Amino acid sequence: MAMDQGVRIRPRDPALVPIVEKVEAGERLSLGDGVALFRTRDLLTVGALADRVNRRKNGDRVFFVANQHLNPTNVCVLNKVCVFCSYGVSPTAPGAYTMSLDEAFAEAEEAREIGTREFHIVGGLHQKLRLQYYLDLFRGLKERHPTVHIKALTAVEIAHLARIEGMTTLQVLQEMKQAGVDSLPGGGAEVFGPAVRREIAEKKLAAEEWLRIHREAHCLGIPSNCTLLYGHVETYEDRVEHILRLRELQDETGGFLTYIPLAYHPDHNELGRRLGREGTATTGFDDLKNLGVGRLLLDNFGHIKTHWIMVTPKISQVSLHFGVDDVEGTVVLEKITHAAGARTPVGLPYDEMVRLIREAGKRPVERDALYRPMREFD
Ligand code: SF4
Repeated sequence: MAMDQGVRIRPRDPALVPIVEKVEAGERLSLGDGVALFRTRDLLTVGALADRVNRRKNGDRVFFVANQHLNPTNVCVLNKVCVFCSYGVSPTAPGAYTMSLDEAFAEAEEAREIGTREFHIVGGLHQKLRLQYYLDLFRGLKERHPTVHIKALTAVEIAHLARIEGMTTLQVLQEMKQAGVDSLPGGGAEVFGPAVRREIAEKKLAAEEWLRIHREAHCLGIPSNCTLLYGHVETYEDRVEHILRLRELQDETGGFLTYIPLAYHPDHNELGRRLGREGTATTGFDDLKNLGVGRLLLDNFGHIKTHWIMVTPKISQVSLHFGVDDVEGTVVLEKITHAAGARTPVGLPYDEMVRLIREAGKRPVERDALYRPMREFD
């Protein structure tokens, strides 16, 4: 087995032989192929194949962004519904918080010093925070930081705002766009399969709604990201079916920028307790597998992103040889995964991002939120 372009990849697992042939021929992989890739223990073949596909698309460039997370509130009406979540709480819970606009603007001020190019804004579904609060937040941020891209609100938050305002999700998206939102993050997708959704997030936005809101955003010229939450009760079939639904929507709209598999963290949440999984995060093997298989199935996506906060900077660095071309960003202050027991840093310095990429033998490229190169390193 070799990683070089043009050298034949020879799998140890015979089940992967037809998949290698398809990838070499540039053919689209099927549901069965995806399941076989998840089942195999031949991780290095998955990695070599995914690396080959990634190199065809991105060469040896690896992207990162100087970004900053802003989480306006952790108060969430679904805090009893999403049993995998350690972030959303009731308004009276210890540690519940809701930022005033001035507090949010003050936290964003750090952007000036550290050269932030993107605000990533997500939070809980607060019953009393109306659409106007978010529109004022976006407008205020744009006024103060006109060159910084605003990536804001998951499909779940958009559906919630539409419900409390008596508006359609399309109307909410239009208002968000007018107020300065440039793209949507990919959260809230979890696992589309109805049986899994019933178990981990019953009554949360259905898969069809999540996909519809992203379709609406793409039609308005708002690109978005997409995710899969893996490592809990889902089967390999659930994972692949989920990914193929994302591929289908991408065929239709071309509006997804990147795919980000998200590793489930079992601490301080109901699901972790139910499964007896507290203290046991996903394994490095499964983290790399999810990234590589994502790269192989999503042939119509330009980019695959590793979320170093969830899988550690070390696994993210290794994943650069498993089909990944994007190591997320500097983040500055992460709260959501850390509430679920993540032991990673809450942010990474810019120079550390560059070092991680370089030491993997790749070429760091600081990008903007739309993958336009801003600064290239040797
Ligand atoms: S996952 Fe999101 S919607 Fe669900 S409880 Fe957590 S913050 Fe609320």
